[in-house]
Amino acid sequence: MNAMLQITGLRAGYGQLPVLHDIALDIAPSTITAVLGANGAGKTTLLKALSGVLPPTEGRVTFLGEDITRVPVEHRVQRGLSHVPEGGGVIRELTVRENLRLGGLWRTGASAVQTTQTAIDEVLDLFPRLAERISFHGHQLSGGERQMLALGRALVARPKLLLLDEPSLGLAPSIVAQLMALLGDLRESQGLTVFLVEQNVHSALGVADEGVVLSLGSVVARGPARELQADVALRHAYLGF
Ligand code: ATP
Repeated sequence: MNAMLQITGLRAGYGQLPVLHDIALDIAPSTITAVLGANGAGKTTLLKALSGVLPPTEGRVTFLGEDITRVPVEHRVQRGLSHVPEGGGVIRELTVRENLRLGGLWRTGASAVQTTQTAIDEVLDLFPRLAERISFHGHQLSGGERQMLALGRALVARPKLLLLDEPSLGLAPSIVAQLMALLGDLRESQGLTVFLVEQNVHSALGVADEGVVLSLGSVVARGPARELQADVALRHAYLGF
């Protein structure tokens, strides 16, 4: 089994409130997995449990063969697992350049600054719009530019697995299409693996290889994206279309 990420028996919640119940998933390298489900299904909670923001109450998360269930967030980033939270988390008071530098803060050693600069240059090649706006502050950017910056900052860490929470939220359809196309390109060119939480079911299944449907904190369906898209009963029951 060459899963990049293995999740077994995962439970997590907030205080006394259990949210995720016995989640088990394997994610293959260089794939895009769309995580779908209604509001409150537990999608964001699952991403937080994978990124280390929310410690699971039970279960195990294995990344590239290593048990990372109790590994702190920054050490997960070092191992190649980056999280773009809902809303992007761009710091509005910092410039585009400064926000991008944050993506490499975890690096240590003599070559850290140079490696981060090279990674920033690569990101600016990928997002010419960010290069044009390099000295703008976060609050001066459009919603689409901010989402690109959030994604760019995560890419500065050179992740192997990217956890993306609702990147399309509040964006115009044409920008969402660009963003999804970019994820497909990154998978092709860099072998990036993407775990994509989305309310925008059509866009997500359009770019994804696999889909996972959550309901009330449990996985109720998973399979090739095309099959999920074609499953009328499933769509009506859980995806609202
Ligand atoms: P959405 O699309 O609305 O973000 P979601 O599928 O991502 O939905 P979660 O945000 O994971 O769902 O929420 C799952 C459940 O956990 C919901 O019942 C929510 O009210 C609850 N919840 C989420 N965050 C917290 C928190 N910080 N404290 C307490 N309960 C929370």
